[in-house]
Amino acid sequence: MPHAALVIIGTGMAGVGLARALRRLGDQRSITLVSADSGDDYSKPLLSTGFAKGLKPDALAQRNTAQLGEELNARVVIHTRATALDVANNTVLLSDSQALGDDRLRYDTLVLATGAAPRVPFSIDPSVAQRCFTINDLDDYRRFHAALGGGPGRVAIIGAGLVGCEFANDLNTGGHQVSVVAPETTLLPRLLPPPLGNALGDAFSDAGIQLALGRTLQSMTPSSGGGIALTLDTNEKLDADVVLMATGLAPRTALAEAAGLTVSASGVEVDRQLRTSHPDIYALGDVACVDGVNAMYVQPLQASAKALAATLAGTPTSVSFGAWPVIVKTPLLPVVAYPPQTTPERWRIEGEDGNFSALAENKDGRLIGFALTGGCVRRKVELSRAAPALLG
Ligand code: FAD
Repeated sequence: MPHAALVIIGTGMAGVGLARALRRLGDQRSITLVSADSGDDYSKPLLSTGFAKGLKPDALAQRNTAQLGEELNARVVIHTRATALDVANNTVLLSDSQALGDDRLRYDTLVLATGAAPRVPFSIDPSVAQRCFTINDLDDYRRFHAALGGGPGRVAIIGAGLVGCEFANDLNTGGHQVSVVAPETTLLPRLLPPPLGNALGDAFSDAGIQLALGRTLQSMTPSSGGGIALTLDTNEKLDADVVLMATGLAPRTALAEAAGLTVSASGVEVDRQLRTSHPDIYALGDVACVDGVNAMYVQPLQASAKALAATLAGTPTSVSFGAWPVIVKTPLLPVVAYPPQTTPERWRIEGEDGNFSALAENKDGRLIGFALTGGCVRRKVELSRAAPALLG
């Protein structure tokens, strides 16, 4: 049976980041990375910037699998799923045996970097399924890009969170006709208090993005022109060529859960050294809930990769996360947000004309989070220094 000292499941920024950090420390152990996708090395945050720049999907891949394997001095097994973990025998079961000549792979240490999967909270009729998309990796982006075709298209985005808003801005700048449908009444409801969400909504409307907020999707049926007719709960109708569902992500915990590891709705539970409830298995990135926190963005996973590499290389290292705000890529109105981890007593909001500072305070008047729009985003560094760490 094939074996590697370290097996990493997932070639996203977390899995690749860990392998890179280990090699940077001079660690020479054998590494095998297993990925369900194409294994291209790309920066996921750039997916929601490609239309404005007129980039084809392949231009977003920094390295292909062969180059990645060479750089990391690692075996990279692609288009192969880990289907089960036999933790008693330190073995991963794989969806096929083509790449390794076996559908089992033994490890000394296993790292789960399986990310999070799009969560679509409604069923999609098969008659329109081919024109409905989620985008959570480069392969998804390739399919969406191909379906939209060369010319300007009509895109209905379901969801007003970070992914929905970033794609709305990017597709609009790229010349497409965009509408956003969401049950919440303002944009970025988990990151921005309503006055700032409204400011972003005004910037979107001024740019020609159609907002259908406070509405839910009732049905989708094929339209006469080959597109999709969307009916909302208010009975309003929208026509689109393609639908992008940006309705949230759920950590991919199924493998860990089936193997008996401790998981919760927030992810695979790990301690500050990224160790799961099994001593030979670690987790990091969007799949991992570190000491109660699953931030699902890049800075925490980079800090985790660095700490875990040090631990695996022989220096046990606990990870900590600073007060790292999320920079939302909506150039129509720049947004920076560091959402409070507990419900604030009050939001202190100042500003006008799209330039807002919103400070979240607890009952003692202490800053516990903030949100900034427009010209106020320049306060990011000052406020990050004053806010409590995400995981101190
Ligand atoms: P993923 O990138 O999801 O990688 C998971 C890997 O696991 C994949 O290779 C997958 O194929 C593999 N896998 C899963 N299950 C299996 C299995 N059973 N067997 C084998 N392989 C498996 N964050 C920021 O900080 N700033 C931003 O500007 C930003 N913009 C974003 C824009 C978009 C459009 C999106 C979707 C996210 C954005 N994020 C941003 C979030 C950030 O990109 C993610 O937090 C990060 O990329 C997650 O990396 P990951 O490696 O944990 O997971």
